[in-house]
This record gives sequence, C-alpha cells and structure tokens, in this order.
Amino acid sequence: MKTRFKLDTSAKKALTALLLGLFLFVLSYAVPFRCLFLSLFHAECPGCGLTRAFHEILHLHFATAARYNLLALPLLFGMAAVALCVLADAITHKDWTGRLLRALSSKPVLALMVLLLVLSEVYNLTHGARFLS
Ligand SMILES: [Zn+2]
Repeated sequence: MKTRFKLDTSAKKALTALLLGLFLFVLSYAVPFRCLFLSLFHAECPGCGLTRAFHEILHLHFATAARYNLLALPLLFGMAAVALCVLADAITHKDWTGRLLRALSSKPVLALMVLLLVLSEVYNLTHGARFLS
C-alpha cells in the first residue's frame, strides 16, 4: 500500500516558516551578524542571544540556553509543536497545524506572548547575552 503525504495550506506555511528559521539559524553561523537594534540603541533586543541559546539547546544545556535568552525554551516548544502538527497533518490528513495556529492566535495566548517579549527585553537589558560572553 502506498502512503500519500499531503499537506494543506496552513501546514505548508508552517513548514516553510520552520525551514526558513532553520536556514537563518545555519546562516547565522556562516555570516557574521550584529543585531540592528543593538547597533542603533546599544541595548539588546528581545531576540538577542537566541542563536547562542539554540546552540546550547543542541547540546542539551537548557539552563544555559535560558540564561542567553528566556524566549529560547518557549520558542523551542512552539517549533516542536508546529513540527509535530505538520507531521500529524501529513499522516492523518486533518488540519492539526491550522488548529494549533488558530489556538496560538487567540487573545490570551497573544497576551502571553507579548508578556514574554516584554519580560525577555527586561531580562536582556539586565542579564542578557552580552553579560555572558
Ligand atoms: Zn538583538
């Protein structure tokens, strides 16, 4: 029996975003990159330290990853959830990715994401990646 993997539009978009993120992560190792926000304002943005944090996650050093950037662990969880949903879409032919993306775009979740961004910025300004390197 031949198995068909077919993805709907939301799964294709999510998979494209995941692959683009992976490409940018790999590219960040090859091309020296300086944060524009850091260059302009001499203060870390909420994303500063994410590359080093994901590098630590690849080594299973989750506590060190959190010290580089608090957003790394929620982002990892979110990316894993999206990847699992894309896989589930392909296997079950149901729109798990669409359901996840609709749940993630609800007001309480968006409010939590904004709160995480603000907390991450406060943390980065006081304990961020530049204090560790
Ligand atoms: Zn930055």
